[in-house]
Amino acid sequence: NETGFHANHTQSEKLYDTAKKIIPGGVSSPVRAIKPFPFYTASANGSKMYDADGNAFIDYCMAYGPAILGHNHPVIKQAISAQLDKGWLYGTPTELEIDLAKRIQSYFPSAEMMRFVSSGSEATMSAIRLARGFTKKNKIIKIEGGFHGAHDAVLVKAGSGATTHGEPNSPGIPADVTKNTLQVPYNDIEAMADVIEKNKNDMAAVIIEPVLGNIGPVLPKDGYLQELRKLTAENDCLLIFDEVITGFRLAAGGAQEYYNIKPDLTTLGKIVGGGMPVGVFGGRKEILELISPNGPVYQAGTFSGSPCSMAAGIATLDYMKQNNIWAALNKKGDAFRKSLSDIVADKKLDYYVGGIASLFVIFFGQKPANYQDVLKCDSASYMRFFERMLNDGVFLPPSQFETNFISTAHTDEDYEKTLLAVEKNLPKAK
Ligand code: PMP
Repeated sequence: NETGFHANHTQSEKLYDTAKKIIPGGVSSPVRAIKPFPFYTASANGSKMYDADGNAFIDYCMAYGPAILGHNHPVIKQAISAQLDKGWLYGTPTELEIDLAKRIQSYFPSAEMMRFVSSGSEATMSAIRLARGFTKKNKIIKIEGGFHGAHDAVLVKAGSGATTHGEPNSPGIPADVTKNTLQVPYNDIEAMADVIEKNKNDMAAVIIEPVLGNIGPVLPKDGYLQELRKLTAENDCLLIFDEVITGFRLAAGGAQEYYNIKPDLTTLGKIVGGGMPVGVFGGRKEILELISPNGPVYQAGTFSGSPCSMAAGIATLDYMKQNNIWAALNKKGDAFRKSLSDIVADKKLDYYVGGIASLFVIFFGQKPANYQDVLKCDSASYMRFFERMLNDGVFLPPSQFETNFISTAHTDEDYEKTLLAVEKNLPKAK
């Protein structure tokens, strides 16, 4: 192996061989199955991860987003540990849920009411069911390349044409389920208007990551989200902002604060649980009142509102507020993206450094506006870059289609080391 990865990761390789026999692919979520094998994490602290062989990595995956304050943050740890002393699951309501809901609402006023679940997937699944129950309509629109979790309604292949009916992305999902999921390209308001118009009487909701995090981030064109808000309102179609990535990330109040748009429903996850499993769906009161037991739309969960998740979420939100982390963190993001762009320009590479706030990505290709554009990136070269970076102690997301995250724990030294490694490992211009 070119990078000597095997020699430095014998323990991880051994663990992977064992894991593969009992856990499909050796992993609990597919993106973790890094080739030739993933490193098995032993611990993490601040901006660093440590694997089973004792290697250290500067982390830009940050657990895919939740760890905005870095790993193993003492304040969050204290909150979880204080909760552990009181027991960690009751199956009854707790004051913690009210405390967290009030905090969330203070940043997301569009969430007049909300409910807690255990993952982002569960949040979008419930929001879509609720939108259908409220509007008494069946069809939804999702954005090509947008990801809303691994449940049937949203696991739909990117169609060849904007208006193609959804084809399931995975065996096991009946076409009868996904035929009600339509797709349009991001940043294309005409395509959106056209699909809404053609399905006018049966269009329940548009679900969208306002900044498309799962293929980038790719940013909305000026006015796109405003026009989308107008279009959905005019057509009695609900607008669901999936802010699982952008919530508490772009700004305290997420993309809806950043772009000043009020969706009907919002889904949250990741940061809002401080690293413990969580999801939230919220929105207009008249819609949320339809959820069981107040209304007929069913939704439930043994672990919903789990006390440790609530306690960790409260601690995270309070810490972020007290330290007003966003301005400084976003400035670090700007500076880091600028440095990355400079390296790309120096090397005369036809690449584009994208991102916003504390998200960044190096597209191995031109600036994209949508999923089809991102597909044109040189993914194979990205994966070679990823491997080289890993070997130099920098853990980037193992895919061109995932965003990188920075945290308040990343130090100037981390950024300097990373930039040196980027300079060394980016390919030469052809
Ligand atoms: N929505 C978005 C925008 C996401 O990025 C993700 C996960 N990355 C989800 C939903 C699903 O969240 P979870 O993995 O917690 O189920």
